[in-house]
Amino acid sequence: MAALKVEWNDWCPGCGNFGILSAEQQAIQELGLDPKKVVLVSGIGCSGKIPHFIRLPVSGIHTLHGRALTFAIGVKLANPSLEVIVNGGDGDQLGIGVGHFVSAGRRNVDLTVIIHNNGVYGLTKGQASPTLKLGIKTKSLPKPNINSDVNPIALAISAGYTFVARGYAYDVKHLKEIIKKAIKHKGLAMIDVLQPCPTYNDIHTKEYYDKRVYKLDDDPGWDPVVKKPEEAEDKMSKAILKSTEWGDRIPIGVFYQNELVSTYEQRIAERSPSYLDNPPAHDVIEFEGKPTTDIEDILKERRV
Ligand code: SF4
Repeated sequence: MAALKVEWNDWCPGCGNFGILSAEQQAIQELGLDPKKVVLVSGIGCSGKIPHFIRLPVSGIHTLHGRALTFAIGVKLANPSLEVIVNGGDGDQLGIGVGHFVSAGRRNVDLTVIIHNNGVYGLTKGQASPTLKLGIKTKSLPKPNINSDVNPIALAISAGYTFVARGYAYDVKHLKEIIKKAIKHKGLAMIDVLQPCPTYNDIHTKEYYDKRVYKLDDDPGWDPVVKKPEEAEDKMSKAILKSTEWGDRIPIGVFYQNELVSTYEQRIAERSPSYLDNPPAHDVIEFEGKPTTDIEDILKERRV
């Protein structure tokens, strides 16, 4: 796959976003995905620049604050043959976008959501974002954080995401493998990526994470994959409990995976059997330079 020359990148030196971009790029390449069939959808924040900075000829949409997931669902449902990846910060997806984040779980659309979790709103000078814990004071806050934090892993599992994992931006090799698993997963996948922001978060630094993160894969007793429907509840509970481990040890890896739940695309196809072969994006909208449909007719149908 040919790499594109990127002329500029304005992330701060040492930003964890570089590791996420590198892992995502390598995952797309190693899976041999056709770049014409890959769409990156981002929200607002430092992470929102991923579609601009990637060095692959994929498609990208830099959308509105908190709305990347809704755009991504629209892209995927219009053309289910595309591989759709959402990139957004914890503020973007778990703050203003949290309603969309939760409701997406009920649908289980087959796409991948990557959260750049740095605990701050980096683009707007480091205000506390939803994953920063109560009482923590980063160098950009005048006083310690007054809010409790959101646990992205527990929230995603409770909402119905069928692949839930955590990665670390400075362990690019491990993160790449997690992203590959998420892309291959049939259903809605979420990866919470611990992403140091050296400019505004002086607590959750590379040094902080390097000595704490450990891999769930190293525990031979850890098996996050649901193989029979009756296992789902127990594996969900174990994953949520594991996600509360935060302190001297912080687990990374796959927390939960269940491919026994139907995807939204499958549910649509059950009602509309031609959907997968002839999705909306394949509709012929013009013939010999003339529109095949009169927009006025469509508008008349839709008026209430
Ligand atoms: Fe990265 Fe933080 Fe700089 Fe944004 S402000 S580019 S998150 S280091």
